[in-house]
Amino acid sequence: MRTRVLVVDDSATIRALLTKVLQNEGMDVIIAHDGLEAIERLSPEEDIHVILTDLRMPNMDGLDLIKAIRARERLRSIPVIMLTSSSETDDHRDNLVAGANDYIQKDKLDHQLMVAKINNYAELRKSQLVAEQASWTDGLTQLGNRRFGEIRLEEEVERARRYGHPLSVCLVDIDHFKKVNDTLGHAAGDDVLKWVAARLTQVSRGTDIVSRWGGEEFLFAFPETSLEEAAQIMERFRSHLAATPVDMQALDANVPVTVSGGVAELEAEDTVAALVDRADRALYEAKETGRNRLLMWQLGQLRPVAA
Ligand code: GH3
Ligand code: MG
Ligand code: MG
Repeated sequence: MRTRVLVVDDSATIRALLTKVLQNEGMDVIIAHDGLEAIERLSPEEDIHVILTDLRMPNMDGLDLIKAIRARERLRSIPVIMLTSSSETDDHRDNLVAGANDYIQKDKLDHQLMVAKINNYAELRKSQLVAEQASWTDGLTQLGNRRFGEIRLEEEVERARRYGHPLSVCLVDIDHFKKVNDTLGHAAGDDVLKWVAARLTQVSRGTDIVSRWGGEEFLFAFPETSLEEAAQIMERFRSHLAATPVDMQALDANVPVTVSGGVAELEAEDTVAALVDRADRALYEAKETGRNRLLMWQLGQLRPVAA
């Protein structure tokens, strides 16, 4: 895996110099002009292995960037190397105490020393990512697990707030799943879960977050997506599922599977918990009113999602 380094500096000269050196070493370089932009670059789709950051920058400086990174579960253990123009031991110590893993002096930049440090930290980060990946993945379905869903949803709620963008969620739950277990056995139940999870992955777009929220319950989060749009995506999934029985070759049987779901959109005063709770109440109503259907919260009222 190529090493991906995020270079954060407000100086175009430094950015260009570091980019050239690191690219010559076969590394991928991602650029940010300040701490705020750096946070944006730390997307869940592409892992950053090492961050090189300047100390003094507009908007968000290096120390605040470190603070923001260390406060976020998914980013917390990314190695951060501080680029410093100081040669004072006291300053180096302060940076390390503030959470930097290491420092590099800009004024007497030793390319080989810098590359060696980055390589060492990148190795560490890569093995950490493998372990983190496993701890956030549901073993049966290979979807993100609940912890993953929670972490990512927190991040997306924060982002939606910052930019005033919409964010919608949907909780779906397999109908009468207990019956599948009871009549076909637990192993067949597992197969159905895997099958439904695979269908969910198919309908999800790159930026959507899908997680196994509970036993046979899944949480979908749709960044930048209105309630109506999210409802339509999930309605297509629901109707497709209802029309396509799971082909259980091991049992030589077709098992009809349906889901119910609740859709809700982030509102001004929402917490993550309140948002998920609304989706959960809509799901509950969908179960109560017949199953194999979706309900959504619109202007404070529950409404059926129409095809
Ligand atoms: P409803 O339509 O109201 O959702 O009914 P239900 O039967 O789907 O819901 P209920 O909550 O009563 O039962 C869920 C069942 O899912 C019970 C549990 O044993 C089963 N289950 C949970 N996790 C797994 C799993 O990993 N594998 C299998 N095979 N079954 C599971
Ligand atoms: Mg169920
Ligand atoms: Mg359930």
